[in-house]
Amino acid sequence: MGEQRTPGHGAGVEADATAAAQAAGEAVAAVDVGGTRVKAALVDRQGRELVSTTTATPADLGAAAALVEAVTATVHELKRAAAEQGLTVTVGACGVVVPGLVDDTHGVALYSANLGWRDLDLVTPLETALGVPVGLGHDVRAGLLAEARWGGAQGSDNVMFVPLGTGIAGALMVDGQVLQAGGYAGELGHVVVEPGGPVCGCGARGCLEAVASASAIERAYAARLTSEEAPADRVTAERIAALVARGDPVATAVWEHAVSALGRAVVMAVSLTGVELVLLGGGLAQSGDLLLDPLRREVAGALTFQRPPTLARAALGDRAGCLGAACLAWDLT
Ligand SMILES: [Zn+2]
Repeated sequence: MGEQRTPGHGAGVEADATAAAQAAGEAVAAVDVGGTRVKAALVDRQGRELVSTTTATPADLGAAAALVEAVTATVHELKRAAAEQGLTVTVGACGVVVPGLVDDTHGVALYSANLGWRDLDLVTPLETALGVPVGLGHDVRAGLLAEARWGGAQGSDNVMFVPLGTGIAGALMVDGQVLQAGGYAGELGHVVVEPGGPVCGCGARGCLEAVASASAIERAYAARLTSEEAPADRVTAERIAALVARGDPVATAVWEHAVSALGRAVVMAVSLTGVELVLLGGGLAQSGDLLLDPLRREVAGALTFQRPPTLARAALGDRAGCLGAACLAWDLT
């Protein structure tokens, strides 16, 4: 595992010179363990990343000891990078966020299909290894916390955060509280938008994720092409978005189908929870108004008495999870 980690560290270290100049003080360590990458940073109270690293996620993280070792090594690397840049930083706490099912209240990573773990009780071993208080949370719920504190949801109490990527995740804030329900709240990707529709990774049919995620869009587009038209390589959702922008009819039909499904899911969420702001993140949100304009029309056309939500791109991009981990850590100090 050390061999995999070493090349990435150092090469991925970045520093914000302005922030660094003011950094002689307190910070927290924030670690976002994703399916393919571990993003980490020392973050100050204003949400500035003083140093950051991005490394490949080590293989075999299925046991608590392996994950504790990976997080501990990452935090040590952050401290080393800070010292190398002449920063005098005291790390007062550490936040760790992971995907899958997470019991934020008890600090247990319940289940991750991608990373292969079940019921990992991480907080106590991490606190022992690091010698500071540790908060463990869910990457998307923590990302919503970061958007609320430092990003696109500042000043909003009723928010839904929806990262749209290979899958579709969701997190809900109602009356200023992020809904957790033992780790089960906010699974917008598994709301059924097409009964009897495509099979989802979860086993059900017609889930939003099976209809409107980047991978679902890619599958739907490939299925519409005849064998003569089909390119040898996979056509990415990004490429399909570019085709939509150019008016390609097949890409446009696929895109509209996905946006319509997303609109139905947003309307369900608005009706159930009364969220007033919907922040879209992840790779698909990078298409900006190409996604947002038709989605706004779809949602506006379906609402009757509900408060029309503002639909916007999330502000923190792929740093939301890492900055969310920093929020969890700052809340412990
Ligand atoms: Zn599903």
